[in-house]
Amino acid sequence: MTPIGAKREGTPGAESLWLDVTRRCQLNCGHCYNSSGPDGDHGTMTRNDWFSVLGQAAEIGVSNVTLIGGEPTLYPHAIEVAERALALDMKVEVYSNLVHVSERWWAVLQREGMSIATSYYSNKPARRNQVTRRPSHARTRDNIAKAISLDIPIRAGVVGNRKRQIWTAKRDLRMMGVEEIGADRIREFGRGGGGQEPDASNLCGMCGDRRASIGPNGEVSPCVFSTWMGVGNVQDASLASILSGPALAWAVASIEGARRGKEKTKACRPDCVPQNPCDPRCEPNAACRPGTPPSECKPRN
Ligand code: SF4
Repeated sequence: MTPIGAKREGTPGAESLWLDVTRRCQLNCGHCYNSSGPDGDHGTMTRNDWFSVLGQAAEIGVSNVTLIGGEPTLYPHAIEVAERALALDMKVEVYSNLVHVSERWWAVLQREGMSIATSYYSNKPARRNQVTRRPSHARTRDNIAKAISLDIPIRAGVVGNRKRQIWTAKRDLRMMGVEEIGADRIREFGRGGGGQEPDASNLCGMCGDRRASIGPNGEVSPCVFSTWMGVGNVQDASLASILSGPALAWAVASIEGARRGKEKTKACRPDCVPQNPCDPRCEPNAACRPGTPPSECKPRN
């Protein structure tokens, strides 16, 4: 694992950061990994704090950021943060529930270097609305269609634990014209954990490897799911020192250790191969980046 701030000489600068700007969201999903919702706040990070983080990130070679939350478009300075990142030559992904996209946001999203990511749960309106615990299916679908009509790059991640639900949701997305579609199980964090203590073995294992997340209060963690593993705060220390520091190295090592322990207890069907996996969520060709866990395809890995 190579922490972001410890980029080796000669290695390509393919590093990325999640800018986890808010805990506010119009929705209130039962599985939300960081317990965001209508009562969530924007934390203590100011617009200038985010600008400072972006400046430091550019200096250490970060080339991709994802604005995430909560619903990042609800953060009052999110457009300015996105535009600052673009000005620093970064690619900017906005991980949105697409419930409401303002005209100003549509204009920004059409700029070179911008893209959208969204989660999708079901082709059935009642099922999605049951997941999000507020009416959202029609709006999200309309805005996916609008993004495609405007030629804005968009990817979708289907979240669920039932194979048929994932299969039908993927088919629905493909029929809408979404080409980049991933899938993930519900991760047992936040409300998704149902009150249980977070378990590092439920992480994907790529956390902290040339990627990290910065939360609404400035706390840095290996990824958006592992926010309980704070490794430093950008309001107290430089981003480079945090990303090359011992706390992140320890967190990454402990995640690896927890995952190794769990791998021993899981097994695929004997004839499982990447071309015909035993689980439709298996994405042999997926690569981890903000908002998408890497492939958990065991035959490939
Ligand atoms: S899962 Fe996403 S859309 Fe649902 S409450 Fe959490 S942040 Fe909002």
